[in-house]
Amino acid sequence: MSATPEITRLEVASHETVLRVHDGALGLTGFIALHSTHRGPAAGGLRMRAYASEDAALTDALRLSEGMTYKNAAAGLPLGGGKAVIMGDPATKTPDQLRAFARAIDTLGGRYWTAEDMGMSPADMAVMAGETRFVAGLPDGKFASGDPSPITARGIFNAIRITARHRLGSDDLTGRRVAVQGLGHVGAHLCDLLNRAGTRLIVADIDAARVAETQARYGAETATADGILAVEADILAPCAIGAILNADTIPTLRVAAVAGGANNQLATPEDGARLHDRGILYAPDFVANGGGIINVATEILAIEDRAGFVDEKLAALEVTMDRILTRAAQTNRSPDAVATAIVDEMPQARAA
Ligand code: NAD
Repeated sequence: MSATPEITRLEVASHETVLRVHDGALGLTGFIALHSTHRGPAAGGLRMRAYASEDAALTDALRLSEGMTYKNAAAGLPLGGGKAVIMGDPATKTPDQLRAFARAIDTLGGRYWTAEDMGMSPADMAVMAGETRFVAGLPDGKFASGDPSPITARGIFNAIRITARHRLGSDDLTGRRVAVQGLGHVGAHLCDLLNRAGTRLIVADIDAARVAETQARYGAETATADGILAVEADILAPCAIGAILNADTIPTLRVAAVAGGANNQLATPEDGARLHDRGILYAPDFVANGGGIINVATEILAIEDRAGFVDEKLAALEVTMDRILTRAAQTNRSPDAVATAIVDEMPQARAA
């Protein structure tokens, strides 16, 4: 067994605690960023990516951990915001690297809980659980929460209904055209819920097999991966990658509203204003996709009645989304700006 890696504390004014984790012999470099523990232990996944530089990796950890503070607060969870990143191609990851990184997480004594994010799997979390108990998203165990995407999709479906009520005058989705970009874990479950609600689906993915399967299953129309952003529909539901709402794409949108599950859909905060100026109602992603962390929270918080907890928190998330869209209409501001302000008003939501 290798030793605990070299841990260096970095001073970052916006964040409570930031650690650089390094083990030269293992080829391991990563960061653990705790934005805020005011609501409870910081929670957010571990991402592994081939970052171009240490600066790029640190910036990602800082940005994502701050985002988790907002997501967890909006979901009404007693959790703060944190995130961790490991530099490197996930295909090169070794169990020793995971174990060493887990020992670094353990030194925080429960102020940070990790789970899988891009480049990590439940099996990786199981390896890490041998070194620290502050890991969720395990494949099995009494409180193991499993794949979060069905719960994420339920939350997005609710967000679509509320957005339809505000923008189209009714939350009855029968006959509404909904364009879904991305047919992975979240997109597939969302299409199922939308189909049951009588929606007319238009779908796109870079994976042609997923498009063909969805077309066959639901009689969905199809579009190209980029073309989906310009199809005429009532609602666009981005469920693939981030930054797809930007200065180039927003002028081409032909929808009344955007409500989907992808993280960081707005390329910049100004893009929230751009959508608002075009009269396109945007359901803030960190509220719409909170179902995933609600599901993971059942594991972190060791919730006995998991279904009851999920139902209660998803219902509360609907109320929060409704408040955001109501206040946005009343104050003529973008829902994204309003959502951030609402979380900032919550007790103990932010870092010091
Ligand atoms: P996934 O990897 O299972 O699916 C993503 C899908 O998007 C894949 O089918 C992929 O082929 C497709 N895709 C990738 N690039 C594309 C492009 N340019 N155009 C069209 N399709 C493209 O991921 P997922 O778990 O379904 O997550 C989807 C999004 O939702 C991500 O942004 C993720 O961060 C976010 N999210 C997921 C969860 C969850 O519970 N899984 C929770 C919160 C947020």
